[in-house]
Amino acid sequence: ATAEAAVDTIVAIATPPGTGGIGIVRLSGPASRALAQSLCGHALRPRHAHHARFLDAAGEAIDDGIALLFAAPASYTGEDVVELQGHGNPVLLQALVARCCALGARMARPGEFTERAFLNGRLDLAQAEAVADLIAAGDLTAARAARRSLDGVFSRRIGALADALVAIRVHAEAAIDFADEPLDTLGGAQLAARLDDARVDLAGLLAAADRGRRLRDGLHAVIVGPPNVGKSSLLNALAGGERAIVTDVAGTTRDLLRETVHVDGAELTLVDTAGLRAEGDAIEREGMRRARAELAHAGLAIAVVDARDPEAGRAAVARDLAGVPRVLWVHNKADLLPPGAPPPPEDELRLSAASGAGMDGLHARLRSLVMGDPGGGEGEFTARARHVEALARAAAHLEDAASALAAEALDLAAESLRAAHRALGDITGQVDADALLGHIFSRFCIGK
Ligand code: GDP
Ligand code: ZN
Repeated sequence: ATAEAAVDTIVAIATPPGTGGIGIVRLSGPASRALAQSLCGHALRPRHAHHARFLDAAGEAIDDGIALLFAAPASYTGEDVVELQGHGNPVLLQALVARCCALGARMARPGEFTERAFLNGRLDLAQAEAVADLIAAGDLTAARAARRSLDGVFSRRIGALADALVAIRVHAEAAIDFADEPLDTLGGAQLAARLDDARVDLAGLLAAADRGRRLRDGLHAVIVGPPNVGKSSLLNALAGGERAIVTDVAGTTRDLLRETVHVDGAELTLVDTAGLRAEGDAIEREGMRRARAELAHAGLAIAVVDARDPEAGRAAVARDLAGVPRVLWVHNKADLLPPGAPPPPEDELRLSAASGAGMDGLHARLRSLVMGDPGGGEGEFTARARHVEALARAAAHLEDAASALAAEALDLAAESLRAAHRALGDITGQVDADALLGHIFSRFCIGK
């Protein structure tokens, strides 16, 4: 892509908004080297840290700092890249960007540096998406999974599957050329066996990608239950903070409190709702209305009841849980139970938010609800809904191919195999799809 006539040189502030010790302005494109020379007053040697004054049009210093040149193609974008590390003051950084624009650069769109890395073959599409996921990862487990995608763990599994499909396609298309011969003399059984293997591999990859998607997207969980059962206490115990207000008065939590917590890489948006009950004043009724609205789009409800009288709690909230895909019943205040109390039903948890007893079990359950069964092998990697959808499409095409093969309809089988192969290409970007690219990179932050 760099061979194209006019590639712009782009510039952006790469560090987050606000003040900080250091602020970084990044340039990429064919003019960045010459531009940096004008800005710093001297040429930059690749991969050398130069202490430089960044000069304005009048030759006065806007700031001083470190200038680095990464020469094409060994740079993040594959183009000449210059990094200017100055003081972390937005006023100075903006002046620096304005100066770069005056010297011929233009402001980068969100994600444009990574888009160029993709267009120049430094990353495939799944890896480029993993860059954004790495930046957005809310905890170390999610970050590690994004790291694995960025390192190509996911892409390599797609690549291996695509290679297998190529081999099957070659075999199938060769057989088409001898269509008068019976399929079994053309290795039909072998073809079917290879196709079966590919279907099994694809199913495994689909399951792993779906876990990766959940790891990235998390799960919207809502805590519900009657007043005073310990919902706020449970939220605090999960969040490890003191965000929600805990009191002895029924109906205290009138507003919704949101807290994002991470449980072994699973992101949970916890919404502590006003206690659901029939009566209450206008403000409480508003709280209950909002609680029900939250439940309408929750992936999981954590329904809290008092361990001493779970059936009363169940009766109070059961009706509101009708549309929620998954409900985890938690019997709280286990510490107040008399010794020898019968255990809760299977799949329900008994714990004490106050003492912390049983919280480990809740963590484990939340993790498995978000992630499903943990996969072995190279470890979890992040994936997106887009990837899962493409894999599901590929799987459907392989099913079609298998039926066509069973019916000795080789043309149809070959067509389905080609479609499956193309679906895999959508994930790594081995197909040209400008609309797709714009959609993906526009969601990045500026400067990446
Ligand atoms: P919410 O109205 O459901 O949010 O309940 P809160 O979290 O505000 O708790 C209500 C009361 O129950 C407070 O006095 C808490 O200290 C108390 N509480 C919460 N969890 C426990 C627990 O596990 N054991 C005991 N003994 N008390 C608890
Ligand atoms: Zn509360």
